[in-house]
Amino acid sequence: MPDAYGRTINYLRLSITDRCNLRCRYCMPETGVVQKNCADILRYEEFLRIVTAATELGIRKIRVTGGEPLVRKGVIGFLAQLATLPDIDEVALTTNGMLLAGQAQALKDSGVGCLNVSLDSLNGKTYAEITRGGDLERVLAGLDEAQACGLKIKLNMVVMRGVNDHELLPFAALSLDKPWAIRFIEYMPAIREPDWRRNLVSGAEILAELGRKYPIEALSGGRYCGPAKPYRIAGALGTLGMITPMSEHFCSSCNRIRVTSTGAAKSCIFNDDSVDLKPWLNNPLKLRHTLVQVISAKPAQHHFGTGLANREFTMSNIGG
Ligand code: SAM
Ligand code: SF4
Repeated sequence: MPDAYGRTINYLRLSITDRCNLRCRYCMPETGVVQKNCADILRYEEFLRIVTAATELGIRKIRVTGGEPLVRKGVIGFLAQLATLPDIDEVALTTNGMLLAGQAQALKDSGVGCLNVSLDSLNGKTYAEITRGGDLERVLAGLDEAQACGLKIKLNMVVMRGVNDHELLPFAALSLDKPWAIRFIEYMPAIREPDWRRNLVSGAEILAELGRKYPIEALSGGRYCGPAKPYRIAGALGTLGMITPMSEHFCSSCNRIRVTSTGAAKSCIFNDDSVDLKPWLNNPLKLRHTLVQVISAKPAQHHFGTGLANREFTMSNIGG
């Protein structure tokens, strides 16, 4: 359905768990993460009710995210259920890839069309440091498997100055002979850090750096292409994408809403407002009505990082 600013909202992101097997430095603190009470996390059947109500309002694409969605038991069965809903055109998954190896074929069989894998370094030591314990080899094995079984792959790299920005070219080079979308994401201040701006490398800077080595062509976006501005190295098999929430927000074309693992619906990742869907899970009409309210209240744009909004938000709970 259209929101108050004429944007068509057709994309729902579901964070099915706040749990994660990593502690990425830009997403969670190293220790002391307070987990949601198990009893407060929605059951799959409850998510399905929300999705069904959302499809009646025009939602056609679902992304399952987390925390780390692959740590939640039964996720593949849930994805398969989502994929068979009559009005859903696309089911996608965002994962850190640590549990991908051994499950890629099952994901493909479940009906997942697109797999977003978060990978911030191609160096094992740097990767382990950024993720505080991640094993690059396991992620790469999962990616190989996913490619072999024909899953459409997008790699998400959060670019951080002085941490992994020297790896822009090797990441871009992956697109030369792999049919992957390599997406560079601007660092967002998701954890409490007064000096977060020192980490930020803007999309323009990233593009300029890539352009010094490769001939880069701008592409036009697809139906659900979302916030990534697409590019290609001339002649490459895959594509590049710039996601620039901080330097050049894409609010005017935002097509999404979010539901957290505890059933809070959010119209904007950066907005404090959320609406609890839990009271309406047994009332399809009221559930739909509440989602209409969420979509209608979607703000024209976010002010995050500008000083107009100054607070912390939990990426791992909202799902990125
Ligand atoms: N655990 C899964 C994963 O890492 O892909 C899914 C959840 S994670 C919160 C979703 C996305 O949010 C990931 O691609 C991650 O890189 C991104 N993300 C988390 N914190 C971020 C930050 N501070 N700035 C930019 N992107 C961030
Ligand atoms: Fe976990 Fe994903 Fe957050 Fe990393 S970005 S800590 S993998 S939820």
